[in-house]
Amino acid sequence: MIISKQKPFTDILATLEGCAKIFLVGCAKCATVCKTGGEEELFQMQERLCAAGIEVTGSIVIDETCHMLRTGRDLRGRKEPVEEADALLVLACGAGVQSVSGASPKRTVAGLDTLFLGNIRRLGQFEQKCSLCGECVLTETAGICPVTVCAKGLLNGPCGGMAEGRCETDPEAECAWVMIHERLAAQGEAGKLKKLVPAKDFSRALKPGKLKVDK
Ligand code: SF4
Ligand code: SF4
Repeated sequence: MIISKQKPFTDILATLEGCAKIFLVGCAKCATVCKTGGEEELFQMQERLCAAGIEVTGSIVIDETCHMLRTGRDLRGRKEPVEEADALLVLACGAGVQSVSGASPKRTVAGLDTLFLGNIRRLGQFEQKCSLCGECVLTETAGICPVTVCAKGLLNGPCGGMAEGRCETDPEAECAWVMIHERLAAQGEAGKLKKLVPAKDFSRALKPGKLKVDK
């Protein structure tokens, strides 16, 4: 899921300068789980905006704000309060904000910072495991991502900074490459480590990404 955090309210207020009326948009998926843009957070945002003298003309939590057609349809369903507003304040990831800006000519304000694709450790605790590099090497690295879990994203490791199995960038963290070595050895696949992994094909991760799945 996409991990996000709310921008400081003072920053949001500054970006809303000149706006007397706001329509709020949230997301029922990732932003709800992150507690940054679900029903509760929209309600709290509405209270804070009202206290700051900004009228909220309405709000909606869209099922998946990154779904462009659904977002357009849902906003059309709230035509009047959307049109009455000076801007749309979106509490969703960057993809969701762009669905909203694509669906409405109104000024769109991003209320969240989008951080990373994350795994859920437990409620409210997220960890980055994959950087979406476009060329997955997990089969060769015992299911531990060197691109993401290694602080330097090394494809051949460990680096010279590793000390007693810990990462030089964070003594609390285990070195990803030590973990990869140990796991491959335990699986009887230590031989894989003798192979030098070539540089990645960075063209696989060229942006903006597009994919059309044949029906
Ligand atoms: S190698 Fe790592 S960053 Fe690349 S796709 Fe696989 S898990 Fe994601
Ligand atoms: S110590 Fe290990 S995890 Fe840290 S940067 Fe070096 S190889 Fe990567």
